[in-house]
Amino acid sequence: MKSVCVLGDGQLGRMLKQAGEPLGIHVYPVGLDILPASIPYQDCIITAEIERWPDTPFTQILASHQAFINRDIFPIIADRLTQKQLFDSLHLPTAKWFVLNSQDDWSARFNQLGERLIVKRRVGGYDGRGQWRVKQDSISQVPIDAYQTSIVEESIAFDGEMSLIGARNYAGDTVFYPLTHNLHQDGILNMSVVFPDVDNTLQQQAQTMLSTIMNKLNYIGVMAMECFVVGDKLLINELAPRVHNSGHWTQNGASISQFELHLRAILGLPLPMPNVFAPSVMVNLIGTKYDINWLSIALVHLHWYQKEVRAGRKVGHLNLTHQNHQVLYNALQQLIPLLPANYLTAITWAQAKLA
Ligand code: ATP
Ligand code: MG
Ligand code: MG
Repeated sequence: MKSVCVLGDGQLGRMLKQAGEPLGIHVYPVGLDILPASIPYQDCIITAEIERWPDTPFTQILASHQAFINRDIFPIIADRLTQKQLFDSLHLPTAKWFVLNSQDDWSARFNQLGERLIVKRRVGGYDGRGQWRVKQDSISQVPIDAYQTSIVEESIAFDGEMSLIGARNYAGDTVFYPLTHNLHQDGILNMSVVFPDVDNTLQQQAQTMLSTIMNKLNYIGVMAMECFVVGDKLLINELAPRVHNSGHWTQNGASISQFELHLRAILGLPLPMPNVFAPSVMVNLIGTKYDINWLSIALVHLHWYQKEVRAGRKVGHLNLTHQNHQVLYNALQQLIPLLPANYLTAITWAQAKLA
């Protein structure tokens, strides 16, 4: 079995490494301070946990390595302009968008896209960073350097947000998890809820969209597609060419986690459809201090990333899975006093889905 090098050593790299262990797969996350001599990289399969990894002489070697899977796809997806152009070329629905060229564009853009617009930097943004929500009277908050380096899109009045996580192998076979319901607050994922028995129309729509993309790119591994739900239609928000935060529930709520699925796909191992046996909830811990009391709730699986706690930073997550909706609902209720007050909205949102 080949070993795997991961460009990036954040929590996703860490969880890929954890997933490899029981299968006897060595996974080496590569960040800023790793020495090439410590990794047998010449014989590794190379993957990435992030669209823009730390730039060092060693990561440059890995990024140009023949065995870097999806090497030519990362740049396309890491740039919102080329990503949106990809959706357009495949006739896949997305929020209407334009390149943001200059301050002279605004009146045309408000005419074309409506009164509330979202400016997004083409590269480097995540967790809602590098974005500005603007109306006619607030365009001045868009910094000068965002012009010519951003896109502007219409604000979608969505009914909800969902993501689809799927994987494709070298033979072109694809597998998918059920669509996951996601709640974002201030542009950052707060909570996910998933059910094994998902709305079939939406699931089929999503699978067709993501298959179209993965096939077009000849993509190998796990890919995530974030969508807005409007009535019975999906609009693609964005793609992630990697394992994704909204798939963390699969660690405890699916027979094969997204991390294991990615390793299987890139290593050419069997890729059966993961079995999803029960509803799951994932609570993101964002700038939240470690609390041992979470462990007093039997359903809680704590995944702590060993990162310094800072405001707005993802430092861990809790997964809860159970066949019985009421049992899950009650476990969430028990969590309320153990989380900061701003979690109440998200917990109530998840509980409403379980009711
Ligand atoms: P991620 O951490 O998922 O990579 P990101 O910084 O790349 O996030 P987006 O996914 O583009 O940002 O946007 C973050 C959130 O902001 C979305 O999940 C959604 O809640 C909201 N949002 C983004 N674009 C739109 C839009 N066009 N209309 C309405 N809401 C939007
Ligand atoms: Mg993003
Ligand atoms: Mg996003």
